[in-house]
Amino acid sequence: MMRIRILGCSGGIGVGLRTTSLLVDDDILIDAGTGLGDLTLEEMARIRHIFITHSHLDHIAGLPLMTDSIFGEIEQPITLHAAAETLAALREHVFNWIVWPDFTQLPTPQGGVLRYSVMAHGEVREIAGRRIRMIPVNHVVPGVGYGIESAGRVAVFSGDTTTNDTLWAALNDYSGIDALIVECAFPNQELELCRRAYHYCPELLAADLRKLRHRPRLYLTHLKPGAEARIEGECRDLIKGFELRRLFGGDLIQL
Ligand SMILES: [Zn+2]
Ligand SMILES: [Zn+2]
Repeated sequence: MMRIRILGCSGGIGVGLRTTSLLVDDDILIDAGTGLGDLTLEEMARIRHIFITHSHLDHIAGLPLMTDSIFGEIEQPITLHAAAETLAALREHVFNWIVWPDFTQLPTPQGGVLRYSVMAHGEVREIAGRRIRMIPVNHVVPGVGYGIESAGRVAVFSGDTTTNDTLWAALNDYSGIDALIVECAFPNQELELCRRAYHYCPELLAADLRKLRHRPRLYLTHLKPGAEARIEGECRDLIKGFELRRLFGGDLIQL
């Protein structure tokens, strides 16, 4: 059985709100937003692989702090999988010895806590029977989603994206999909902002869902704080034929 624990799924922070981070089983993390801070030290130390969708702060904010927190707890490096542009951004702008130390070089240059692993669009990483596929999407910085296959079930996380063809083509390539965790950052009144910031609103998401040949259960994520009920309501009005759920921090998806 595949377990996806939702550590954070909000578009922002506030009491009870944490940004994007998903734990697959207990050793694979997808994005490292502030939700990561809900894990105990022991739980963090069990993470062996981290897949990052893109370089935006809400998806990486927990990463530097986690790395420092478990510095003394782990013996083998954590592998950080991401597209070349995303790893370059982390190297240049976060782990640059100014914002934070370069943990690929600590405790020693030969054996850091973190190890970068460049992943290409469409590439699959196999980790103890689970297959993680990188799927390109359409965001304001280079962004990807990830398909996760485990024990015959498939879950896909969109990352941050607006209207695109690549995600939906990749989804249609699977023979079936059980769960689609998809962003819907803003309500319809922010359509123009969605175009500029490369996010979905219910109208844009509903239009793209027509490209999908499968009928997975939909989980809405990355909703703007304060607009959650409105976004969910607009999705329920516009998206028909799917079982639809709004994600909450602490949710557990079991497939
Ligand atoms: Zn983003
Ligand atoms: Zn985001």
